[in-house]
Formats: sequence, C-alpha cells, structure tokens
Amino acid sequence: MIDLRQLSKIYRTDRVETAALTNINLKVAAGEFVTIMGSSGCGKSTLLNIIGLLDAPAAGEYHFNGKALHGLSEKEKTAFRTANIGFIFQSFNLIDRLTVTENIALPLYYAGVDAAERKERVAKILAQLNLSHRAAHHPKQLSGGQQQRVAIARALIGKPRLILADEPTGNLDSANGNGVMEMLCDLNDAGTTVIMVTHSQHDAGFSKRIIYMKDGQIVTEKFNRNVSAAL
Ligand code: ADP
Ligand code: ADP
Repeated sequence: MIDLRQLSKIYRTDRVETAALTNINLKVAAGEFVTIMGSSGCGKSTLLNIIGLLDAPAAGEYHFNGKALHGLSEKEKTAFRTANIGFIFQSFNLIDRLTVTENIALPLYYAGVDAAERKERVAKILAQLNLSHRAAHHPKQLSGGQQQRVAIARALIGKPRLILADEPTGNLDSANGNGVMEMLCDLNDAGTTVIMVTHSQHDAGFSKRIIYMKDGQIVTEKFNRNVSAAL
C-alpha cells in the first residue's frame, strides 16, 4: 500500500539545518498494524506527517497503491488525504466551539457529503462508540477517554483505508488507553491499515510490526506474535 523510497526531510531555520529524515525506505502492506518507535527527536512525527501528506519530503518518492503522491499539488493532496487517511492525535485536536456531532461530521462536510447523510452516518458511529448521549456536548465537557473516542469517530467517519495515530494514548490513563488500543486492533482486524507512533512499549505490543528509528533513519524492525509469516 505504502512505498517510501529514499525519503529525506530537512528543516531549515535561520542558520541551522536539521536533517529530520535521511534516506527512509519503507513498505507497508494493506492490513498491517505498524508501530514507529525511537527516542524524542528521531523523526517519528515527521515521518508520520509525510505519510499523512501533512508535510512534504525534501527528496524521495512516496507511492500509495502504485500512485505517485510526491508530485501532487496541494489541492490534490488534500483530496487524497480526505478520501483515504484518518488521523488520531495525542491532544485529540477537537474543535471546542463545535459539538461532538459537528466535530465528527467535519471530514464528511469537507468531502461534500450532504447534510442528511452526514447526520445519519454520525448518529451511527456515535452509537457504535457509546457516545450517543454526548452528541450535543462540546469536547471540554467530556472526559479525556470520551474525547479520544470522539476523535477516533472523526478519524473513522470517512471510512479511510489508512489510520495514522500519533501517541494516541499519551494523554489517557491506562484503562482509557487500553480502550483506544483495542479500538485500533478491531479496526485493523476489519482491514484498516494502522500506523502508530508511540513511546509506550505496552501499546506497541498491540501492533504487528515495530519499526525503530534513530537520528532520522530506520535502524531495525521487529515482528510481534506470529504475524510475520502472514505478510
Ligand atoms: P519525533 O517525533 O521522533 O520526536 P520529530 O519528527 O518531531 O521527532 O523531529 C525530528 C527532528 O526535526 C528533530 O530534530 C526536531 O527538532 C526537528 N524538527 C521537527 N519539526 C521542526 C520544525 N518545524 N522546524 C525545525 N526543526 C524541526
Ligand atoms: P475520566 O476519569 O474518564 O477522565 P472524568 O472524571 O473526567 O472521567 O468524568 C467523569 C464523567 O463526568 C464523564 O462521563 C464525563 O463525561 C463527565 N464530565 C466531566 N466533566 C464534565 C463537564 N464539564 N460537563 C459535563 N460532563 C462532564
């Protein structure tokens, strides 16, 4: 599904150049659940943001199901992202002045789905995530675990083929964190590809493959359980 070739990213500020990623080669097949680990500053978020088309590489190629994404215009990237990718962040990134329903409906709104269908699909996913009683609340009125469930609902509402999660349990207690990890596993079991960044060895244990980064490069990888045989 994902094929990154010789990908590099350099951040330039006044005088300083930081090589955030150097010659990254990575293939992720459809249906995988991959964790990216490594110490702070090694390039995990940069890599995830490039995969999510939130950031562009300085050099290299990005192919998604055989389609070259590195040459797309901003407008084409936005369309591709909306149609294919869902994001989950550590800080939930919900919009406080919108209700739970409105937050979840946002990706559908951007995708041009009409109001009646938006309403129906949001009601359905709220029921699935046991959040129907919170539909008219604002994010600040919810517990952290509930906010992350809303954020997951927003990531899933467009039925993306790929979910990108950056420290999804970072702001949650262990019970809510495990709830989020179980949701990601269920989604993955249903066929959605998941790529997650985490510092948590415990969370990484839910995934099928762990990639370790150091100084902007992939240094090693490990397969969990017996899934390597299936790939
Ligand atoms: P990680 O997610 O592994 O903590 P990042 O991908 O956030 O690492 O950062 C990789 C490197 O790029 C770090 O050295 C970081 O300081 C640098 N970096 C990240 N974002 C920027 C930016 N916007 N401007 C300059 N340097 C940045
Ligand atoms: P958690 O331990 O999961 O973080 P909280 O102690 O924050 O839970 O909240 C407990 C319950 O009270 C949750 O169901 C949450 O939705 C509700 N709640 C918390 N803050 C508010 C608020 N400001 N308005 C309405 N409900 C709230």
